[in-house]
This record gives sequence, C-alpha cells and structure tokens, in this order.
Amino acid sequence: MSFHLDPQTVYIFLICGHVLTIVLLSAYRLSENRDASISLFFTAKLIQAGAWTFMLLKASLGELAVISLSNTLLFLSTAFEAGALLRLQGALTPRARRLGLLLVSTAILSFNGIVFFRNEEMLRIALASVFSGLLVAPPALLLLTQRKATALRRLMGVLYTFVAACLFVRASAAWFAQNGAESVLAANVSQSLFTISAYMTMMLGNTGFVLLAKQKSDEELQRLASLDDLTQIWNRRTFLNKSQIVLERYAKRRRPVSFLLFDIDGFKGINDTYGHDIGDRVLREMSEVVARQLGPEDLFGRYGGDEFAILLPGATKAESTLLAERMRTAVEGSYTLSIGALTFVPEHRSDLDRIYKCCDLALYEAKKGGRNRMERAEAHFETPAASESMLEQVRV
Ligand code: GH3
Ligand code: MG
Repeated sequence: MSFHLDPQTVYIFLICGHVLTIVLLSAYRLSENRDASISLFFTAKLIQAGAWTFMLLKASLGELAVISLSNTLLFLSTAFEAGALLRLQGALTPRARRLGLLLVSTAILSFNGIVFFRNEEMLRIALASVFSGLLVAPPALLLLTQRKATALRRLMGVLYTFVAACLFVRASAAWFAQNGAESVLAANVSQSLFTISAYMTMMLGNTGFVLLAKQKSDEELQRLASLDDLTQIWNRRTFLNKSQIVLERYAKRRRPVSFLLFDIDGFKGINDTYGHDIGDRVLREMSEVVARQLGPEDLFGRYGGDEFAILLPGATKAESTLLAERMRTAVEGSYTLSIGALTFVPEHRSDLDRIYKCCDLALYEAKKGGRNRMERAEAHFETPAASESMLEQVRV
C-alpha cells in the first residue's frame, strides 16, 4: 500500500490547523492566561501559518524567494516553539536564549547562502532538517527526562523527540541522496518524513501545548493555595491533609511519629515594640531557621498567628526531644519558643484534633512553667478524660 499527498493539500491542511490554533489561543489569552510561554507559542504558530501560506503561493511568488522566505520563517517559528517549551519547564535561561539565537542565525545564514550560491535541493533539505531537529531536541529531551514529570509531559516529550528523530533521519536521507544515493527514494522518504513531522508539530501545538500550559497553571494555583502567604510553609489545611496521610501510613507500619506544637514567646510584645512589619519578618525568619533543622520527610505548617506545628514521621521520643532542643537553641538570642511535644504510634483513624489538643495543653504548661522550654504531652494523650477537664480549665 502506498499513499501520496500532494504538497498543496499538505500546505492547506497545515495553514488551517495553525490558523485554528491561533484563533483558539487568542481567545484563551484574552481572559485566562498571560503566561510568557503561551505568548511565545502564539508567535510561533503565527509565523508558521505565514510560512506555509508562502509555500502555498510558491508558483505565483517565485520559487527561490519563497524557499528563502518560508524556510527563514520556519527556523524562526521552530526557535519560538522550542523557547515556549523551555519556558514552560522553567529552563529558558539567558544561556539557552543565547544558544538558541546562535543556532537560529547560523541556520538562516547558511540556508540562504546555499539557496543563493549553490542551490541544491537535497543539501537545502539536509540543512533545514538538521537545524530544525537541533532546535526541537533540547526541550523534547528535557520533557522526557525531567524527574517527577507528569504522564502528559512524558508523552509530549516522546512525541517531540519523535519529531526531532524524523528531522534527523530526513537530514541524513537528503545528505546521502546528495552524495549520489538513489534520489527518487530519498525524495519520497524526505517528503513523508516532512509531512509526518509538520503534522505532528501542528497537532502537538493544537492540543498538547495548551494542555501542558493549563497543567502548569493549575499546579501553580494548587501550590499557592497550599502555602501560607507570609512564611511559604504549608498552611493549616494542607498540613492537616498531609499529616493524615502520614498517620495512616505509619499506622499500617506500626511505627511512631512525633508531633510538635510551638509558639513564639511574647510575640505580641515584638509587634507592639517594633511594629507589625518586623513581627512579620520574625515569623518568616523563624520559619526558615526551623525549616533548616528538618528532614525532607518532615511536615512543617503554620496553624495561625505565631503558632506552628511539625510532624516528624518515624521520630522517637528521644529524637523529637533532641529536635525541639535544637529548634529552641537555633532561635535563642532574638526571641524564644515554647513547645508541646507528643510521640505516639498512630492508629488507622488517628484524630489529629485530639493530638493537637494534647500538644496544646503541653504548650500551655511550657508557658506556665516560664516559657522557652518544651513539655511532653504523653500524659494527656494516655488519659483523655483528665486532659479534657484540664482543657476546660485552661479555656475558662
Ligand atoms: P505568649 O508567650 O503567651 O505566646 O505571648 P504572645 O505575646 O506571643 O501571645 P500570643 O501568642 O497570643 O500572640 C500572638 C500575636 O501574634 C497576636 C497577633 O497580634 C499576632 N499576629 C498574629 N498573626 C500575625 C501576623 O501574621 N503578623 C504579625 N506581625 N503578627 C501576627
Ligand atoms: Mg505567642
């Protein structure tokens, strides 16, 4: 079975595909997303639509001028598309920009040099394909190899890598044809690979890129909604959700966890003496100092005001006491901390509210005992009735 699409039909499909992408992206950009990667991608699609329109008009505009202009535009649009993909992954560094600029200007100059001084079709195709492949490959490989990439990112990485591979195969087929291999076969291979890679780039742009951009902005929104604005550590809701998951995991393993609840001593006084802004700075700096004492699995959240909590998965009583002491000495000098600490083996449905209440009682005892100290909450945890009545007294 063989199939053949004449170039005019291919160009018309490509123009329609790109114009539709441009229309959809314009509507999306209007109200939703002003992300720089979307703007770069939009520019790429605009230039690509122009390039394919010139190709379509080759017969009436003159072959040499169209080949020069449309390929120049295609190099530029590929560079913009690669830039958009890099930007989406946070990898459009000044160095990447400089390299891209160098690559695209070398491509444009050498391609046009060949067109005007030594116009051999196969050499032109080899050069255009190899430079386009070099522009597409870096963002494609980055998508493919990123740690913790989503399924969508990996899939986009596979597809863009396939496009880059098609371009490199097309370049070598054209190069060998130019050096005397069977040219009819090479022309067919070249045409098929060109059609496949151009279609794939278009389809990836139509859906894949927009989905990727949407996924990135959703992730950013989710991140912002999970963090405390001031300290950039987990907010109470996220801390509690994440803690619940850890408790269930450690209940299955029958292994202990430790919970620390702590509060800055005399924080109202800091606000009153130095002002609210300095108070904010103290909260931020204290969070940074404490976060530096924690391991990668430990959870750290702001409960509200100057009250914070830490969940230490796997930490024994001795380990949590040691950490509490390290935290106290790390901040001592500027201000002090009072801490309520509890170590327990969680049950399947451990009640975080009760754990918090027990640590709050221990924290209250630490304050009452003179502040700048840690009290353990195990006694309250093991005798819930007594701790409930003590809580009532504290509230009164
Ligand atoms: P104690 O030793 O008993 O903890 O005394 P304290 O003065 O620290 O009392 P408390 O913990 O009750 O005070 C918390 C204060 O924190 C009250 C509130 O005005 C202040 N606060 C709450 N949120 C913020 C904030 O985001 N920024 C600043 N600067 N202050 C805050
Ligand atoms: Mg306080």
